Amino acid sequence: MKKVVVVGGGVAGMQTALSLKERGVEPVIVERTGALGGKLRNFHLLFPSMTPAAEVLKSFTDQVASSGIEVRLNEEFSDFSTDAPIVIASGFNVFDARLKEEYGYGIYDNVYTTVDVERMFNEGKVGLKDGSVPRRIAFVHCVGSRDEKVDQRHCSKVCCITGVKQAMELASLWPDAEIFNFYMDIRMFGPGYEELYQQAQQEAGINFIRGRVSEASPTIDGRIQIKAEDTLIGRPMKMTVDMLVLIVGMRGTDGGKFYRPRDLFGGSVLSDRPNVFYAGAATAPKTVGESIAEGVMAAEKVVQYLNDGN
Ligand SMILES: Cc1cc2nc3c(=O)[nH]c(=O)nc-3n(C[C@H](O)[C@H](O)[C@H](O)COP(=O)(O)OP(=O)(O)OC[C@H]3O[C@@H](n4cnc5c(N)ncnc54)[C@H](O)[C@@H]3O)c2cc1C
Ligand code: SF4
Repeated sequence: MKKVVVVGGGVAGMQTALSLKERGVEPVIVERTGALGGKLRNFHLLFPSMTPAAEVLKSFTDQVASSGIEVRLNEEFSDFSTDAPIVIASGFNVFDARLKEEYGYGIYDNVYTTVDVERMFNEGKVGLKDGSVPRRIAFVHCVGSRDEKVDQRHCSKVCCITGVKQAMELASLWPDAEIFNFYMDIRMFGPGYEELYQQAQQEAGINFIRGRVSEASPTIDGRIQIKAEDTLIGRPMKMTVDMLVLIVGMRGTDGGKFYRPRDLFGGSVLSDRPNVFYAGAATAPKTVGESIAEGVMAAEKVVQYLNDGN
């Protein structure tokens, strides 16, 4: 029997391959980068339990290694019109914050994204460019999500909780810093998320301001001035901060869109073609746990398809 190609070696792809192998089907993981792991390779602690991403990844890569699954690294899969069974687990792209020019990402010092903050924590180098400790930090929610101007209307789902998690991490690193999260709505959909949000306000002293930041600009003394509107009291406001963190959203990999599953119920890992399956964040913003669960489900559907004599 031909091997089932799993496109992408993130958590969803690795779980799909492990579940296929368990069920006696030979998978091959095709991963375009030089290592397995997907986005988790650059993350530090995972919400909501603060489990190290490296720990979760190690358990997956160890299982893949010991199962003898074929892995092809540095290979980009492109034959999507194939008749062979494939599972698309190609994940998502992080929104490019430079497209929101008004926030000065890549132009002004000390404007970061949530992905940068994860990387800085991993490298043990969180802080301002000159090494000093920030006195005031602002997080901007919904950067590249819920935004028609950049053709990304969806809510990226995982980023409110990421902003809360990182605000708490920075508060525990710098207890004297004032931290503000500027949000449109707070979406805490998962187990333990609402509790973390309460803890952020009541114990970590994070300030949540309902309002959209319209622009950021450098001040003469090297800080960043942001303009926003507090939509609860209906007034424009200005604030000077030392560090600005843009909470970037998730974009699909199919020409900037997410793949469309057959339906959002029993067919969430099925496509319109019988031999093509999906797993993980390829179809919509998802958490790590949800992506893993879809890997199991996609493998199950592949096995059914193969058993049906195709
Ligand atoms: C800033 C941020 C923080 C987050 N923190 C958390 C958290 O704390 N907890 C949590 O539960 N979730 C978190 N998430 C969500 C988490 O990143 C996703 O749930 C998870 O990465 C989805 O896994 P995946 O395997 O579907 O996709 P990915 O991790 O994107 O992996 C996809 C893989 O496919 C490969 N690929 C893509 N196209 C091809 C191709 N054509 N050929 C070959 N290979 C290809 C890619 O290189 C990549 O390795 C966070 C997301 C963001 C943006
Ligand atoms: S999860 Fe929160 S920050 Fe992310 S797009 Fe949705 S509302 Fe915005």
